[in-house]
Amino acid sequence: MTGSKATTRGPRVADLPCRHGALLVLDVDEVVLHFIAPFCELLEEYGARLHFDSFRLTGNVRSIATGSALTGHELDGVTERLYAEQEQRQKPVEGVGEALARLSAEADIVFLTAMTPAFFDERRRLLDAAGLPYPMIATERSKGGVVAELAERWQGPIAFADDLPPNLEGVRRSVPAVHLVHLMANADFRPHLPAMPKRTLQASDWGEAEGALRRIVRGDAGPNAQVP
Ligand SMILES: [Mg+2]
Repeated sequence: MTGSKATTRGPRVADLPCRHGALLVLDVDEVVLHFIAPFCELLEEYGARLHFDSFRLTGNVRSIATGSALTGHELDGVTERLYAEQEQRQKPVEGVGEALARLSAEADIVFLTAMTPAFFDERRRLLDAAGLPYPMIATERSKGGVVAELAERWQGPIAFADDLPPNLEGVRRSVPAVHLVHLMANADFRPHLPAMPKRTLQASDWGEAEGALRRIVRGDAGPNAQVP
């Protein structure tokens, strides 16, 4: 467990191995590990169901018996339990292991998760057991701030992949040169996704994501001066 002020766990940016010029910064939930699917499975145990009516959880999770929406506090409890039991419940997204094994020959890889850092050890064990040994930072800080620190060490192309457009936008604002990739393993929310930052590459699975990330790593994705 962490101290009360420790909102980040994992290696310090200064201590990360830097073997390549290029860096891939990858969100974990819905990019590397399934989140929505096991969340829905867990909801069944609570007698509730997620309705994909809009791009949010709050209000869209409703009791099967009464139709009433679960509160944000109740949803936080479900999420917390999912993270506590993630080693039994969360599975790697199809193809991620093979794709990252190939990409790691050309780029360094760092996982950047906004999961409650208290569950760092569970997530680390899960990733290691799945053959995903890349360094992970779990933080409650903004992802843009962390990517800005990373960008001081990696001089080549940097890609950032996430399922949540606000995270992509936050990184774009902090480090405009970073290449953005949108990947969300679960397809049910895709019709409701808000607008992406300009020039975001959209991938629907790891086959597409690997291609996009390789083009970025090799400098084939073009410049990325994402001036608003
Ligand atoms: Mg995510």
